[in-house]
Amino acid sequence: MKIATYEYQEKVMIGAVEDGRVWSGALLGWEETDMQELIRRRGGEDFSALQLPAEGSVALEEVRLMAPIPHPAQDVICLGINYMEHAAESARFKNETFDGHRDMSVYFSKRVGRAVACGEPIPAHTGLVRQLDYESELAVIIGRDARHVRAEDASDYVFGYTIINDVSARTLQSEHKQWYFGKSLDGFCPMGPWIVTADEMTCPPDLAICSRVNGELRQNSRTSCMIFRIPEVIEELSGGMTLQAGTIIATGTPAGVGMGMNPPTFLKPGDLVECEIEGIGILSNRVEDI
Ligand code: MG
Repeated sequence: MKIATYEYQEKVMIGAVEDGRVWSGALLGWEETDMQELIRRRGGEDFSALQLPAEGSVALEEVRLMAPIPHPAQDVICLGINYMEHAAESARFKNETFDGHRDMSVYFSKRVGRAVACGEPIPAHTGLVRQLDYESELAVIIGRDARHVRAEDASDYVFGYTIINDVSARTLQSEHKQWYFGKSLDGFCPMGPWIVTADEMTCPPDLAICSRVNGELRQNSRTSCMIFRIPEVIEELSGGMTLQAGTIIATGTPAGVGMGMNPPTFLKPGDLVECEIEGIGILSNRVEDI
């Protein structure tokens, strides 16, 4: 099931999306009115059994999609350099040597005051940001509080999956040593277009993942090429920190980002970035000079 947050007739609501139509949560018998609440209360539910009523749905074009979790309760947990080819291009950009091995996962945090919806602009932050880059990523949403979870049980704790563009200001990342600032500027977390519930995916999912800039294919990989996979990541993190229901984990990006190109090529106002993951959809945003 695809579950979206959207605005319709000046009301923000959640609902199910199928075949270009939207069923409001009220039609489905949900008392919950926002995604965080839905995840907290129905995180363990099997949405594949949900029946969509024949009457009452509206066309997808009639609603304004918002990010599925517009205001994450906590920072997004991100995996750094979690695809081998991206690890290599990242090392090349920084003039570092890379021996082709990763022993330990890299985690960092991305602050998201407000997640950007599909179709909304990515602000270029002209004047502050010189090397604006995109990162197409599969994000996993935790469905119930996870503490000391074994990898083989991790799928029981997954609510669903969405797409995140981990927009990055490369100069800020390198100049400030820590990635936090360069990853967390306003508008740097496009998310969506919706969450696909876990019952529609294997865990970990093996899905085609790509990105395009102005229609040109840039990243093209599969989520099965992750170095540290979702069940092991949940086991590792939950071994020391409770992953609360609603936690968002962005699982890293494949090769083909702007800093990996020869010569490095960064985003500029007017560019259209599309991040696509099989079975989820396309997250599309244009860079604007704001
Ligand atoms: Mg990233």
